[in-house]
Amino acid sequence: MSASSPRRAEDTEEFSAGEKPIRYIIQNLERTYGVPLNKRTSDPLDMLVKIILSQATSDTNSERTFAALKKRFPTWDAALRARESTIAETIRAGGLANQKAKVIKGLLRQLTEQHGEISLNFLHEMKAAEAVAYLKQFRGIGPKTIACTLLFACRQEVFPLDTHIFRILRRVGLIPQKCTDERAHQLMNALVPEGKFYSFHVNLIRHGRALCRPREPLCERCPIVEYCDYGNWKI
Ligand code: SF4
Repeated sequence: MSASSPRRAEDTEEFSAGEKPIRYIIQNLERTYGVPLNKRTSDPLDMLVKIILSQATSDTNSERTFAALKKRFPTWDAALRARESTIAETIRAGGLANQKAKVIKGLLRQLTEQHGEISLNFLHEMKAAEAVAYLKQFRGIGPKTIACTLLFACRQEVFPLDTHIFRILRRVGLIPQKCTDERAHQLMNALVPEGKFYSFHVNLIRHGRALCRPREPLCERCPIVEYCDYGNWKI
């Protein structure tokens, strides 16, 4: 049996993780890994482009490509005036350059058409659900990118799931085994208690690196084993 699924619900509208004591899960992770705080806001457009550039590459690479992009195009207007191929050339080192350049250029163009200026600062004033709905309209920008932008730049309560978080939540039983990205994000947005989005996100990443690894998770040492479907099956 794979390390990801002892027993699982399919993705249905009825799926509920309501019986899972999520507050204890969050609390136990905080006892183990600390209480990370999301203190600052930042420019949401810069953050969105950073997250686009971070896809399918390392943090170091994506930071380098973002720095290269800002150096070559000191303003987003300058990037909009550039050819898509020039943007792609500038971010080549981060991989998927043509695809990312298309998304970035499309985003800049659409913002100019809609607002007459290239900015997403108005997201700071929106409610989380409204901001999610707004960002969904852009091509190539999925639920994780949206959630990261809103959580990290605007401190809004939207929960991003990456590959590692998906793995842990499936093992624990907080999301169904078969579940679209969008559905998983919806389920978690409804489940995570207010004020705990950032802490839970960061600590799940820490937990995925430390114990709940892709292969051979260390369930014997896990602080949330009592709440985990996979851990209960394994031990
Ligand atoms: S018990 Fe802990 S380490 Fe094991 S699968 Fe569950 S969350 Fe991961």
